[in-house]
Amino acid sequence: MPTIVHFRKNCIGCNSCVEQATEHWKISDSDGKSVLLGGEEKNGVFVKKIHLAETEANERAARDCPTRIIKVFK
Ligand code: SF4
Repeated sequence: MPTIVHFRKNCIGCNSCVEQATEHWKISDSDGKSVLLGGEEKNGVFVKKIHLAETEANERAARDCPTRIIKVFK
């Protein structure tokens, strides 16, 4: 299964990932950074398994993230 990894600490809350993959990302009301919906935290890094069909949108999110803190592994 493909996996998304989000190094959230360095998120600048630009909303780009939300625009690319709305079902997987949202901006937190509390700190303004993005949240990987359904992600599990491990040492401040969030990880989530996705279906193959969800890969493309999240690869776009990773590509356009200005701080390069989203990784998608197939
Ligand atoms: S695109 Fe990157 S910097 Fe922008 S909100 Fe998403 S994770 Fe944060």
